[in-house]
Amino acid sequence: MTPSFKEDRFLISCIALTLVLFVVDVLLPRSVAWGALYSIVILMSLRLNNPRLTLLLTGMCVLLMVPSYFAAPDSYSPTWAAIANRLMAMGLLLLTALLGLSLLEANHRILSTQRRLEEVNRELEHRAASDGLTGVANRRHFDERLAQELQRAQRGGEPVSLLLIDVDHFKRYNDTLGHLAGDECLVQIAQILQANVRRSTDVVSRYGGEEFAVILPNTDPTGAWERAEAIRLAVREAQIPCGLPEEGCVTVSVGCGTVWPSLDSALPKTVIDLADQALYRAKRSGRDRVELEPQAHPAPGPANCSVCLTHPD
Ligand code: GH3
Ligand code: MG
Ligand code: MG
Repeated sequence: MTPSFKEDRFLISCIALTLVLFVVDVLLPRSVAWGALYSIVILMSLRLNNPRLTLLLTGMCVLLMVPSYFAAPDSYSPTWAAIANRLMAMGLLLLTALLGLSLLEANHRILSTQRRLEEVNRELEHRAASDGLTGVANRRHFDERLAQELQRAQRGGEPVSLLLIDVDHFKRYNDTLGHLAGDECLVQIAQILQANVRRSTDVVSRYGGEEFAVILPNTDPTGAWERAEAIRLAVREAQIPCGLPEEGCVTVSVGCGTVWPSLDSALPKTVIDLADQALYRAKRSGRDRVELEPQAHPAPGPANCSVCLTHPD
């Protein structure tokens, strides 16, 4: 632990007390070594930040001081001066120790309060950034992260992809199985999305209602399409029943947009619009599919960005 300003002030006070003790002992030439030694011992134990050790050492020093007086009778007179010297030394030692102990205790209290506050702060930050139902990032966090990632990509000249994922016929799902089952289904889909992103920088978020968004920094259209397909297939494989035997299981449609912010502006709207257009096409061409809409421009993106990849069926 690095010594705080308070601790340093405390140490300076201890050293000052030791010096006072030393001067008193020099003026009344008895127990110079004892007084200084005891103070240093107590000072060191305080520095170790161990209140029990400090108490023990203080007790021992005080106990030793008493017999040392009787074992080595004073050579000066009057005797009351020697007694006063001893009493003063003991008083100073006790004072030093008590002062140190109370400071250590206060320090411990401050540290544990600080730790608790940090934990509460982390928890609050997490709650403020996550969606209450699904636990993934909420829209506010999504907006912040997308703006950040686009700016970062603008500096590095990298592509940024965005997936917009919409649950197919979700209104019907709610109507058939009820709103609570619908909520449960959204939680399950959020988990599937989370399990299907690979990099720690990828951000899964709830975009709104039954729509999710995944930010994929430094990902080109091919990479985005692979992730989108993995997500689409994972939702299918989860076999979430939608209540109507003829409809099979819950599926999702995915729109992928990709931008190279270094060549254009770094506006979130650009990539959101692209992903939205792709999602619209996916819905129109039958749902349960992935559509791609990269930004149309020459290098460094893929040569012809107007390609549109859909799954084979
Ligand atoms: P499409 O395949 O075209 O996307 O059809 P859809 O029925 O999924 O689309 P639509 O926009 O008509 O309906 C979305 C539904 O999602 C309607 C709304 O009640 C439901 N929904 C939105 N948010 C929630 C939620 O938090 N919980 C539940 N249970 N349902 C939600
Ligand atoms: Mg929708
Ligand atoms: Mg939908």
